[in-house]
This record gives sequence, C-alpha cells and structure tokens, in this order.
Amino acid sequence: MVLATNLGFPRIGAKRELKFATENFWKGTISEAELVQIGADIRCTHWMMQKEAGIAHIPVNDFAFYDQMLDMTALLGAVPPRYKWSGDAVDMATYFAMARGNATTPAMEMTKWFDTNYHYIVPELTAATQFRISTRKIFDEVAEAKALGVMPRPVLIGPVTYLSLGKSKDGTSPLDLLSKILPVYRQILIKLAEQGVEWVQMDEPILALDISAAQEAAFRTAYATLVGFGIKICLTTYFEKLSANEDLALGLPTEALHIDLRRGAGQLDSVLAKMPADKILSLGLVDGRNIWRNNLRASLGLAHHAVDKLGADRVWIAPSCSLLHCPIDLAHEVRMDPQLRSWMAYAAQKLKEIVAITKATQNGESAIAEALTESDAVVKDRATSPRIHDPAVKSRMAKLSPHLFHRSLPFSERRPLQRTALGLPLFPTTTIGSFPQTKNIREARAALKKGTLDLTGYDAAMKEEIKTVVAFQDEIGLDVPVHGEPERNDMVEYFGEQLKGYTFSQNGWVQSYGTRCVKPPIIFGDVSRPAPMTVAWSSYAQSLTPRPMKGMLTGPITMLFWSFVRDDQPKSETCKQIALALRDEVVDLEAAGIRIIQIDEPAIREGLPLHRDDWDSYLKWAVESFRLSASGVRNETQIHTHMCYSEFNDIMGAIAALDADSISIETSRSQMELLEAFTEFHYPNEIGPGVYDIHSPRIPSVDEMVVLLEKAVTVLDPAQIWVNPDCGLKTRGWDEVKPALVNMVKAAQIMRDRFR
Ligand code: GLN
Ligand code: ZN
Repeated sequence: MVLATNLGFPRIGAKRELKFATENFWKGTISEAELVQIGADIRCTHWMMQKEAGIAHIPVNDFAFYDQMLDMTALLGAVPPRYKWSGDAVDMATYFAMARGNATTPAMEMTKWFDTNYHYIVPELTAATQFRISTRKIFDEVAEAKALGVMPRPVLIGPVTYLSLGKSKDGTSPLDLLSKILPVYRQILIKLAEQGVEWVQMDEPILALDISAAQEAAFRTAYATLVGFGIKICLTTYFEKLSANEDLALGLPTEALHIDLRRGAGQLDSVLAKMPADKILSLGLVDGRNIWRNNLRASLGLAHHAVDKLGADRVWIAPSCSLLHCPIDLAHEVRMDPQLRSWMAYAAQKLKEIVAITKATQNGESAIAEALTESDAVVKDRATSPRIHDPAVKSRMAKLSPHLFHRSLPFSERRPLQRTALGLPLFPTTTIGSFPQTKNIREARAALKKGTLDLTGYDAAMKEEIKTVVAFQDEIGLDVPVHGEPERNDMVEYFGEQLKGYTFSQNGWVQSYGTRCVKPPIIFGDVSRPAPMTVAWSSYAQSLTPRPMKGMLTGPITMLFWSFVRDDQPKSETCKQIALALRDEVVDLEAAGIRIIQIDEPAIREGLPLHRDDWDSYLKWAVESFRLSASGVRNETQIHTHMCYSEFNDIMGAIAALDADSISIETSRSQMELLEAFTEFHYPNEIGPGVYDIHSPRIPSVDEMVVLLEKAVTVLDPAQIWVNPDCGLKTRGWDEVKPALVNMVKAAQIMRDRFR
C-alpha cells in the first residue's frame, strides 16, 4: 500500500511558543522543567496534527531546542573540550553553551544549512574526538511518541553528512573519524530497534552536493555496516537531484531511498530505471521550501508513474524535504488577502496534500475528488490571474535589449569622468548605509503601525534622524555620506512593501537559527514599482549637505533569495523583473541629483546552486540582473555594491562582471587575508575592504585601521581603495559608532598623506 510519510515538522510552534519559552529560560523567568514541558507539549501537538492528517510515518527527533545538528553532536557526545563537560549525559547548560557560548566560553560556529536560510551548529572535530551515546533525547522521544499512539520514525543526520559538515580543528580529515563514529550509530540503531522502531530516517543531504571519492567511499563503508540490526533505513536526500550520486545512493543497501522531486525535478525516470528490487522509493512531491499549494494532479501523475513501475508497496509519498523550512499553519493568516491565501499551503496544509496524493494514488482520483477540484482551480487561477500576470511587465521583459545590461562606457573610461564629477580624495571614506537604529526610531515605527503616530509625524521623526546622521558625517569629514536608513525595518521588506507582486504574511515565521525566526516576504506575481521608493529620503538627505549623498538600494538577487519565490516561472525571470523595478528607482535617484548609488547584494553567494555544473547558468542571470538594475545611469554616476563577506575565490569572475564602480566587502575579521582573491584575480574596479568589524562592540583604533589599510595597499592599487566599515551600523550604538568613524576618517587621512 502507498504510504503517506513526513520528513520533519517545524519545531518552533505556530505561535513561536518554543522561541518564547527558550528565551524565557535563558532570562531565568521559567525553569528548565517548564521549558522541557513546553517542548513536550509542542511535540505532542505536532505529532497529533500529523496523525490526524493521516501521516503513516511520523518523524521523531526532528524536534530540537536549538538545532538538529547540535542535537546530533550531543547524542554522539562530541562536545568540544572547552565546555568542560562532565562526560555524563549532555545537560541543558552544556547544550546551550555550545549553541550560544557563555560567560567564559565562546559558542561553536554556526553556518547555513545548504542553500537554506536555516543555520546549524558546526561540529568541531579533532583526531582526539571520542564518540559515545550521550543523550537520551531520541530514545525518550520515541517512547513519548509511542505512548501517544504515534508510530515514530526517528530522524538522524547520517554519519557521512555529519562528518562532512564538521570542521576539523587540528587538520585531520573529519572522514577519518568514520570508523570511530559508526559503532555509535550502530548502538543507536540497536537501541531504537529494541524500542520497537521499524524505520529510521537517515538524512544524508550531502548526496545533493558534488562529493569526493573519499566521501563516496565513506558512504559505502558506513551503510554496509549500518544495515542488519533489525531496523530499516530510509536514506534521505533532498535539496537537489542526485545527479552523479544517483548510482551510489541507489546502490547503498538501505531499504528505502527518499528523493526530492521539487528541487530535483526530472530525476524520477532515471531513478526508477535503476531501482534495485525490493527497495522502496519515497517521492518528495510536496515542496518543503515554499508556501505554494501543490498541483495535486501533476503530483499524482508522478506518483502513478512510480506505482506502475514499482508497485504500490514500494512507493511512499512525502514532502520534498523536512517541512522545517516553511511556516506552520495558514489558519493563522487571518488578515491575508483571501485570493492570495487560497494559493498557499503551510506545513499543516502540506500534510493534507501528502495524504491526498497518497489516497488518490492508492484508491483513484475519486477518493479525493473535492481536493482535486480545488487544486485544479488554484492552478487555473494562478495561471490566469491579472494579479500575477501584468502585461506591462511582460512586454517590458520581452523587450530586454542587450544595451540595457551595459553602462555606455567601460569602467576605465567612466572612472576619470566620475573622478572629476565627484571630486573625491584618495582613500575616500564612506559607510555601508545604515546608522544605529535607536530606540526613538523603533518607537516611531511602532507608533505608526499602532496608529498613535500619523504619517506626517513619522516623516518628521525620520527627517530629524536623517538630519542628525548627515550633520555628524559632515562634522567628522566623511567624504560620501549616507542618510542612515532609519525608515527601513529590514532591507528586503522595506522594498517588498512598495513593490507590486510582493505580499507579506502575518504569521509566516520560519526558524533561521536557534530562537531567531524570520518572516520572508512572498513574491507572488510580476514585479514592478508603482512609485519611487527612496527618492524623497535621499533627496532630503542630499539637500542637507554639499557632499555626494549615497543612495541605498537592495539588489535584485538579494530581493529574490530572501523571499519565498513564485514557482510558476524560473527564478531568473523573477529576478530580472525585480531588476527592472530597481532600475526605475536608480534612474529616478539620479534624476533627483543623487550621484552615487549603492545596490546591496549580500545574497549573491548563497544563491549559488549546490551542484557546480549549475553555477555558470546561475551566475549568468544573477550578473545580468544586477547589471540590468544598475546600467540605466550616466557614466558620471557611480554605482556601488556591498557584500557582507569576501570569500569570492571561486566566483571572482562574476563579481567583477557585475561591473559596479566600487564594491565594499567584509575583510577586517580576517585581517585582510580575504583580499587574496582580489589579487589573484586582479579586480579592476574600486574596492572598499572593511576596516572596522561592526559585529563587535569594540572600537577600533586609528592605528589598527591604518595597519589594515597598509595591508590592503600591498595587494591593491591605492587609487582603487575606499575606506569603510564591514557592514551597516544599524545594530551598533552611537557611543560605539561615533568614535569608531572618527578614527576611521583619521586613518584614511594618514594614508592619504602618505600617498599624496
Ligand atoms: N545597506 C545595508 C545596511 O547598511 C546593508 C546591510 C547588509 O549588507 N546586510 O544596513
Ligand atoms: Zn553587509
């Protein structure tokens, strides 16, 4: 019989209960016992939702108080020595110390989970790392689920993914620890089998990457020794098609294989053709990474196809990946536009879709006649709705001619024109855009939202703030001032709210890391800009100073990747629509007298596809989109961009191809080491390597910034260098920002005197 299964459920709670409870525990306002109880309540609620929906395989151990990789580290007892852990069961204090650090010990590193916006805690490994079962969490949760009448399918991060995502602290290869880690995995499986567990879900998402021969060998070794313990394994892959790893994944001796048929659409036939006899195939049909309703008829087609080939007993229906990456329940979106809402499905709705596909695959379409009719209606509505399809945008897109992607002169010829027009000194100073978001600013925004402050009052408050920010920059002699972005709550939301084609949820929270959740904007239709978005603020700021005020925009790639995107057209298409909307803004800013415009693109690197083969086509449209947004201006107008990192080695060509006149990047934490990429490649345009780490409250001295600039001139032409902080200043206080920027201007002056 075809089974409805799930791979993981968002743990944060529909009202973010887990977030608030955990934060209260950290503050000391609730006890550990209370936190543990809230965790149990959330699990119970979510299991019951799944059970009632009709899910046969319900994931257990997908819950975590902070992160599932950290839970794996705790389960395996791989606690780094600096936490002085007793070696008994990993307690809450040790667990949260690893996640967040404590008074004496820094936290473990955190990084992005594949190409999602979820962040995991990176395992720290050395040759001396010992593994042994060190928490009861997974076993307790299995018992808990069984007591509630739920058939648990425990989820583990598989050994090869766990080690591969770990970071060696002593130069040993993490995979060398395989022989040490496998016996512990075996013990875990044996214990689970003793608890009566039939299936375990072994997540190996690194199978969605290009893996090395060593990783491939590790897979073979690992799974050869993990089968045969009275428990069946579903090898679970997601986020991409298996591509070159297809034979490997199919050949491992696990009883089931899960494949992602959303991100990895198109791989079904080739997987079916190679399915070994008896292996079960779990079809990832319902998108775990987006908020759109499933096209049930299309999914059914794929499911029938698999059943024809394998038989009903060897097919499971599942989400593409864990539902962790989508919000919990659309029922809480009471204020959303009903038509837009009718197109969406959050986790709770996705469970029903999985069950519907399963039922119809098993019993025929008539078993879900009503759901199918509704789904068809949504597909039709989205295909034809004038709210999605804007003829003006479409006709503009159809007419994208090559010259729109190019400034009229190359950089080498623009540069002298800009020099004369802007009259900037050597080592010009600037900032990345935002200034401290003070209590005043936040209160004004809250009051506007509540209705206790009208728009006139709000505008006045923001203008007051801009006045202060501009006066301060003039006073300390910053060459290229900014208005400080007080009016922006968030760099994507601020623009999304003013663009056609974007909408916002009230409760679409998704976990980003630990207790931090984000509510991504939703791009549902063709994007355009009904009216200028930043021109009034920037022109006001420009009116306060003779210096060239820098206009500040969020770029098309970042606007795309930090949102839920439409799934009815390629991302490249959406990105270019956004680029056109931003182009209008860029041109209007210029017309209003703004001579330098920065288009932030912190997301360009995280948008890189997981398979290297796909990089070129992505980078091509990403670069085109940026250029489309930036190229409408005169040669004299200077375009800047900003990225919050500088690990560009492998995409340096694309970074240069953006053809921004200047790029600011993060380099101070690495003491300019990261600039190496720019020397090897010989970056042609101007560049502002951050000299001030804004992530730290420490105020950098003049001397240390001079030292960094001295390093920069060893690899870059002094005439190429801008002096700026690493990133925006919105999270810092004025008491830090003032002295730091005064010092930064002095450091630039010292360099200027030397090279004059
Ligand atoms: N201009 C934005 C700011 O200064 C850039 C933020 C970012 O790079 N993430 O805040
Ligand atoms: Zn930044």
